[in-house]
Amino acid sequence: MKLRVGARTDIGRLRERNEDAYLVEEPLFAVADGMGGHRGGNVASALALETIRGEGPLPADPEALVDRLRAANRAILQRGAADPRLAGMGTTVTAALCDGERLHVLHVGDSRAYLFRDGSLRQLTEDHTLVQRMVREGRLTPEEAERHPQRSILTRALGVEGEVEPDRVTVPLRPGDRVLLCTDGLTGMVDAARIEQVLRDEPDPQRAADLLVEEANRAGGDDNITVVVVDVEEAGNPAPAQARPTVALRREDPAPAPRVGPPGAAQDHAAAPAPEEGRRPRPRWRPLVGWAALALLVLGTAWAGARVYLRAQWYVADAGGRVAIYNGVPLRVLSWQLSEVEEVTDIPTAEALRLRTWQGLADGITARSLEDARAIVEQIRLDVRASRGATP
Ligand code: CA
Repeated sequence: MKLRVGARTDIGRLRERNEDAYLVEEPLFAVADGMGGHRGGNVASALALETIRGEGPLPADPEALVDRLRAANRAILQRGAADPRLAGMGTTVTAALCDGERLHVLHVGDSRAYLFRDGSLRQLTEDHTLVQRMVREGRLTPEEAERHPQRSILTRALGVEGEVEPDRVTVPLRPGDRVLLCTDGLTGMVDAARIEQVLRDEPDPQRAADLLVEEANRAGGDDNITVVVVDVEEAGNPAPAQARPTVALRREDPAPAPRVGPPGAAQDHAAAPAPEEGRRPRPRWRPLVGWAALALLVLGTAWAGARVYLRAQWYVADAGGRVAIYNGVPLRVLSWQLSEVEEVTDIPTAEALRLRTWQGLADGITARSLEDARAIVEQIRLDVRASRGATP
């Protein structure tokens, strides 16, 4: 079995930065859609794919790939805690590993993997979004979910919690199959029927990737768009004259980083470290301070970083019988509560907990920002109100 790959990422027509990234390193492929202020989104998506790629050999099996995703989660949390400007950053990841006979997909967030076979498109991943959860529970139709104002609220992402559990899907592959990995900048703008048609009409994977990006931009290009198309062919076919990307990692608008060669060559953007890191001068005073002072300094910096990190975390949970928004993380270290109540609503927690969608309130529902938390609260309010109507 042989693979042919096409890939493209594009800033879209409205965004100021491209926070998406992709990884093409046969037989491993991935897309990531970063989020977070400053350059946080770029850093999170790139850091995730760099960690998944790793320094040495590629992950050999899905278990090794799960480990890399978990390592990526930790790396994002650590970098966010160490740099206040990156606090609260996160990313989706949809990664696919081909073992010659099967495709192993690992997935966190709302980027997607599809299998195009015999002319029709099948979605392999399920979005980790609030609206998708409501679709599964029959409380929204898929069409309603597509237009829902809170459709981008993620229920799972890398960089949010200490532990992350990726979804895993394995499908047998056969010649003629096409695998599509993409971020929501494609699927939010172009419907599945149109994506299917493009994949049916355009046999070349790079051309197909380009066309899909063009379709998303033509439909408005509201978001960054990233597409990876992997074609499965018989091993015996002669190699086509196509210049296949051998890119390790690519972002569309890389920050000026050291070691950049001629412009235009995609490899130049490979695994570029965050620019701050490359330029930070080495402290000259280190040999002068004693180890104790250094240790104190490290502890102090870690604590300052932790506080900044906590300030950027939000969740929704109970406070004295009412649904409330908390700032911090729902944890207690020794006698230290790592969060405080930001806003208390008039919604009785007990009523919300009776609704299956909101049972997560018991442990706290993670939000990406205060605005996200407020959106979640509004959704809880609507749901509680609706349930009151349903049970007279
Ligand atoms: Ca996006």
